[in-house]
Amino acid sequence: MTQTTAKAKTETKAKAKAKRSVTINPGMICQPIGAMQAVLGVHGAISLVHGSQGCAAYPMRMFNRHFQEPVEIALSSLGEDAAVFGGADNLIKGVHALVARRQPELIAVLTTCLSETIGDDVDGILRKIDLPTTPVPMHTPSYIGSHVTGYDNALKALVTHLAEQTGPNSKINIAVGLLNPGDIRELKGMLAAIRVKAIILTDISETLDAPLILPRPRFPDGGTTLAEIADTANSIGSIALCKHAGGSAVKYLTGKHKVPMITGACPIGVANTDRFLENVSHLSGRPIPDELRKERGRLIDAMIDVHFKIAQKRVAIHADPDVASGMARFVHELGMMPAIIATGTESKEFVADVQAVASQTGHEIDIISGCDLYELHEAVKAVGVDLVMGNSQAAYIGDDEKTAFARIGFPVYDRVGYQRRAIIGYGGGINLVDRITNAILDHADSA
Ligand code: SF4
Repeated sequence: MTQTTAKAKTETKAKAKAKRSVTINPGMICQPIGAMQAVLGVHGAISLVHGSQGCAAYPMRMFNRHFQEPVEIALSSLGEDAAVFGGADNLIKGVHALVARRQPELIAVLTTCLSETIGDDVDGILRKIDLPTTPVPMHTPSYIGSHVTGYDNALKALVTHLAEQTGPNSKINIAVGLLNPGDIRELKGMLAAIRVKAIILTDISETLDAPLILPRPRFPDGGTTLAEIADTANSIGSIALCKHAGGSAVKYLTGKHKVPMITGACPIGVANTDRFLENVSHLSGRPIPDELRKERGRLIDAMIDVHFKIAQKRVAIHADPDVASGMARFVHELGMMPAIIATGTESKEFVADVQAVASQTGHEIDIISGCDLYELHEAVKAVGVDLVMGNSQAAYIGDDEKTAFARIGFPVYDRVGYQRRAIIGYGGGINLVDRITNAILDHADSA
């Protein structure tokens, strides 16, 4: 398929969305939950949501179900009076109560639809609070953006408030985006093999997959420390694995502290992982070791082993923008056909990324940005696919269309262990080969 045809299809979808006045089964979550995930990867930090009960209650439930971990989220509990007279009083009392009860190393104050709409000057309110560490404001109303932009805003706010030039450190900053603890462990394994020191922004590998050790620590072990975030200004370079969720933070570090940056592509599959490792090698000056070349060979071997079972199968993928575009390239590498590549977050960059895959591989791809699950379902019915990939909320599409379904993304709550299994790197690629092939075999068995 030519790039022009892929563009025409995208424009058709954009028109269809403009006519739609209702979202049915949203394909994204609201901004604060993305910001909360970024904060949960900072050691000793806690989110204080400046909003109403549901703005903290439902994200907590999502985190509990997906990560199978308890999480703590504080709330300023805005009620009717605050909606009329402003929420400054609640916020000031909430910050002091949180310090007294939990003694966090950092408080991140997340705004919501309500606090932004009533016009609370959160930055000004926080500046007046007399504390040794000023809480970091993060602007995350949900009438714009999605959980992806919420994560991006939060990471930028962290480096804006904390990064400080003190002297070169020979480390690489890696902004990971909305991935899983298993992905971060895979990432750390690759960096250890190259013997590169890194600052992970932010590191949920232990905080959202904590060992059960009693007595429970006040805050989970692990996470990126405040000192590490401060040190990001002194690194030899930054890489954002997901340009939509972390790209703004590395851009800030380049603009303010002259830290060279590379954004994307998310290292899913062979070519994208090769590119990531080449980037790490280029920034650090260290060679890619045989250990990683062998792992690459194992991935290619796994791909060849299943080729005759999955080749030419048509795939629909709904995920966050960088994961979806990375998966589009990987299913092509697998000999499959990326038929529909969709994301719930509106993004021209996502469309351009998938158009590049379409033009480089010759596939005809329906590209849908800002896609709800109803729209995904309609597209699946229209073009016909053999496999749908998405989070647990999209599983009904596989059932309705009697199609194989493989889980990916957030939240996955109707199966266990997905947060532990990487999808990035060569090791993550092997996991995906197994996941995709087994979904197709299970479906064939049940037909
Ligand atoms: S009010 Fe806004 S921020 Fe709060 S849960 Fe609803 S969409 Fe999210």
